[in-house]
Amino acid sequence: MTVRFAPSPTGYLHVGGARTAIFNWLFARSAGGRFLLRIEDTDRQRSSDAMTREILGGLRWLGIDWDDEPVLQSTRAARHGEECLRLLDEGHAYWCYCSSEELDAKREAAEAAGGAFLYDGTCRHLTDAQRSEKDAAGMPRVLRFRVPDGRTVFNDIVHDETSFSNEEIDDFVLLRSDGSPTYMVAVVVDDHDMGVTHVLRGDDHLSNTPKQVMLYHAFGYEIPQFGHLPLILGSDKKRLSKRHGATSVGEFQQKGFLPEAMFNFLALLGWSPGDDREVLTRSELVEAFDIRRVLKKSSVFDEEKLLWMNGQHIRQLDDADLLHRLLRHRPEALAAIPEAKLAPLLPLMKERMALLPEFFSHGMYFFSDPEEYDAEGVRKRWKAGTHEMLTALLPRLEESDFTAGALESLIRAYAEERGIGAGKVIHPIRLALTGSTASPSLFDMMEVLGQDSCLRRLRNAIARIPEPAG
Ligand code: GLU
Repeated sequence: MTVRFAPSPTGYLHVGGARTAIFNWLFARSAGGRFLLRIEDTDRQRSSDAMTREILGGLRWLGIDWDDEPVLQSTRAARHGEECLRLLDEGHAYWCYCSSEELDAKREAAEAAGGAFLYDGTCRHLTDAQRSEKDAAGMPRVLRFRVPDGRTVFNDIVHDETSFSNEEIDDFVLLRSDGSPTYMVAVVVDDHDMGVTHVLRGDDHLSNTPKQVMLYHAFGYEIPQFGHLPLILGSDKKRLSKRHGATSVGEFQQKGFLPEAMFNFLALLGWSPGDDREVLTRSELVEAFDIRRVLKKSSVFDEEKLLWMNGQHIRQLDDADLLHRLLRHRPEALAAIPEAKLAPLLPLMKERMALLPEFFSHGMYFFSDPEEYDAEGVRKRWKAGTHEMLTALLPRLEESDFTAGALESLIRAYAEERGIGAGKVIHPIRLALTGSTASPSLFDMMEVLGQDSCLRRLRNAIARIPEPAG
């Protein structure tokens, strides 16, 4: 069994493309088959090596490996040309001399009459003499496929039996006037030569498939099993596009998503393991993957869900791995901080992060005293009695052991003594120590910050909390 992913390097690796790659990869790895890559760079104007590198980098980041060297479609043009001329010899193709002006005029007329333009077969029946005359005059020509009468039927893993009337399909171009092959024919020759047995790709290719199936018949190639994956929609149920926000895999990487989470999330767009598991590792997904469970229905790209899933995958990392990811994500932010100081924070922060940068935005107070205090927090947490309440607590903290357990007993007992809820002590302290209203468990955090730092921060804060007048 052999599958392939065949991106065109005319843009970034889009989440839709990545999902196609993931389904092919899961299918191959779960069935012990081969997963090949083909870079469809025949549109020389719009393709670039930089995009090819970007796409391969995105696949590697997701943990998708491929068998053999990637095939560059542009290097195979001679082989495509050869196979096209075989079709010509065998009567499945013909030269067409219609100029683009003539075709444009016919297209406009058809559209004005409210219909779609299908090539009318003007050059289908030219005699040898007519052709020789046009060739002698040096008229540009394209090679067109002679679409047979009847219907084209193929079986699709997702859509079951699918059939098109050939009348809806015009004699499409195989070789352009400069002799270069079109996507339609290159894809068929390449899939055949690469031994591809299953073509899994987006639903947007469904309308190309009857043409390709006709080509398989004409070439005498064995027809692969097709499977067209449902579209990915944005939250408004429209086709996912830039309007909905980030759509390239690289953007998600930069935002601080883990590749494991991205992979997991995309694998569940249009497929499910058949039970209620949602957080799965790559190997669990390989284990569970069954192509027959691909859904027909389009699926919605829910970024909230992706965030949630990312948090779940962050919690599954061991501390050393999390540190490694953080260092890779923002080396400069952690450069000055010794690893011994970072290590105790990892288990605290891990439970609260959905994205890697949150470690920096929510956790930097571990390394520097707050300079500002969240305004909303100040209004809610630092009340009339707070100045006195924290001042009276200071000597006890000076005496205390600085373990989470000891601090918790001390602060709870203090609240009880004063006849107030523990939150009335905890929240003002948190704001004083971090400048923010959210942090990991206060007692754990105090232990990690240490006594000197906690006392200094509390004194600084107390100086900012107004004493009630009189
Ligand atoms: N190169 C095509 C694309 O990027 C894919 C062709 C195919 O999978 O057959 O959409």
